[in-house]
Amino acid sequence: MLASAYFEKMLTPQWREGQALGAGGSIEVNIPETDPYTLLIILDIIHCRRARVPRIVNFDKLIDLAVLTDYFQCHKALEPYPSIWLESLKEEVPSVHSNMLVKWIFVSWVFNYDAIFSRVTRIAQRQAKYDICLLELPIPESIYGAINHARKTALTSIFAALKRRREYLETNNRPTCCDDCDSLHLGALIRLMKSNNLNLEYPYIGLSVEAAAERVSGLKQPRSIHPTPPPGPFALYHRPSEMNSRLLGEDTKQEVENAISVLQGLDLS
Ligand SMILES: [Zn+2]
Repeated sequence: MLASAYFEKMLTPQWREGQALGAGGSIEVNIPETDPYTLLIILDIIHCRRARVPRIVNFDKLIDLAVLTDYFQCHKALEPYPSIWLESLKEEVPSVHSNMLVKWIFVSWVFNYDAIFSRVTRIAQRQAKYDICLLELPIPESIYGAINHARKTALTSIFAALKRRREYLETNNRPTCCDDCDSLHLGALIRLMKSNNLNLEYPYIGLSVEAAAERVSGLKQPRSIHPTPPPGPFALYHRPSEMNSRLLGEDTKQEVENAISVLQGLDLS
């Protein structure tokens, strides 16, 4: 009984089930809906019937096992099986955000697969277009809240960087090249932000951090209005290889890069 914190609490005399157990010797308990075979696996492990415990399970079964493990709070009693089950499944961890990825967030949290947990939460932070959908899995708020918060914070930083750039082109009185160039870039930036849907408001429905960063880095600056590059230190800004440095400025590009690079997933420890 001590193998599960859940049963330990429930079957002691102060609880109804515990009193029933004392009076009649048996009780009925309600557990989350999973296939009965999953519960059998957990009971076999807890009762040390090792020969009956499968060493390979499919991912659906692993999710069911995680649901019951979380519900019964019997993580420790299951050792070392979660690592054994992972062996045949670790190649299946998705590399893009999807419902499957959310399931891996849940499973890796329950079974303490720390490297996978960091990896899948990093993908969710960067690729989720909305608050993540929990799929009725008991993922704690400390996890999904942190992922959603990281996504929105990064997008807020990216949009703030674009806004600062616009304001700079609008108001600065020391243009990088000349006033005409700044006017040209300001107009282009306003138009490009609109056509690339980079005017979204919080909570940025439908946009992921990666997509936003890609759209920003893909913004093309207009062709130079100077027939030939002006001489001197500004020549650099007119090189065609400088894709959009004049449009965005190095600061904006750096700020966008920083916003995404801090998204490194969550840590279990
Ligand atoms: Zn100019």
